[in-house]
Amino acid sequence: MPRPTRTLQQRLTEGVVVGAEGYVFELERRGYVKAGPFVPEVILDAPDALAQLHREFLRAGADVMVALTYYAHRDKLRAVGREGDLEAMNRAAVRIANAVAAEGDALVAGNVCNTWSFDPEHAVVTGRLVREQYREQLGWAVAEGIDFVIAETNDYVGEALIALEVCQELGVPAMVTFASVQPERTYDGYDYVEACRVLADKGAALVGLNCSRGPETMLPLLERICAAVDVPVAAQPVPYRTTPGTPAFESLESAAGRRAFPIELEPYGLTRFEMADFACRARDVGVKYVGICCGGAPHHVRAMAEALGRTPPASRYSPAMELHPVLGGDDPQATMCRWEREDSA
Ligand SMILES: [Zn+2]
Repeated sequence: MPRPTRTLQQRLTEGVVVGAEGYVFELERRGYVKAGPFVPEVILDAPDALAQLHREFLRAGADVMVALTYYAHRDKLRAVGREGDLEAMNRAAVRIANAVAAEGDALVAGNVCNTWSFDPEHAVVTGRLVREQYREQLGWAVAEGIDFVIAETNDYVGEALIALEVCQELGVPAMVTFASVQPERTYDGYDYVEACRVLADKGAALVGLNCSRGPETMLPLLERICAAVDVPVAAQPVPYRTTPGTPAFESLESAAGRRAFPIELEPYGLTRFEMADFACRARDVGVKYVGICCGGAPHHVRAMAEALGRTPPASRYSPAMELHPVLGGDDPQATMCRWEREDSA
């Protein structure tokens, strides 16, 4: 596959990179992934559905097509009885991402995540298992052609470091992000800011946070991370209304005490304009890779890309001005970046 004309580093130097994730959640809503195991069987079972979602994110302004190999590692596939499909699934996911990326000169990211195999109490033995799984997944990804790796939703610094080391062995830049599920610290006891600093010091190309937190509870941490590290920071929150009392969406509950995660989250959803506002705020605190995670859909990505000054292909069908709560008013100075803060001030 020919690689895109501009590298990740070039794009980061020139401005903000727009990311888009949330493939598993969106494909679950569309009926192609089973909630619970959340294994991306769609790669082999309905490749056109996956390609279509890539294309929608691309049209909406995403600079990166993330290969859907999240949870496509040996332990997870064994758990759903598809271990025999492991290599085919990983290779096909990267191939599909490449095919769509080429339609718009987007980058392709290989993807690994927390494996649920890692146990810091038995870091040597379980770390070996994790390393084997990352090596086989990312070995196939590199063979198919990727521009960098996103190692994400990490709960442990120990496991994140293994992902980084495997990327370094393979010679690909790594963006390493943590899922800040807990209020302050990773499950192995690092303050999230310190966790990012450790990964940056060890050579990660980007560090940051993804998933778990919505904009309101992720931004304060992002500000501290940007101040603490010398590498570009990535932020991909979930588009849900998390609060200081409930910083992670996994814990959102209805008034009756019913847990909303993962399949009853709609009442907590953020609008495209709220996500556009997040994109501006994140950029303003210094975040260089601005995206979205579980719950994100193409309309969010388009609004975020537009707020960051882009006019992606899907902007042709952006809302009619009179429907626009920001740009449809009388204020000629109105921009997506100004609206939300003034509205809540
Ligand atoms: Zn997510």
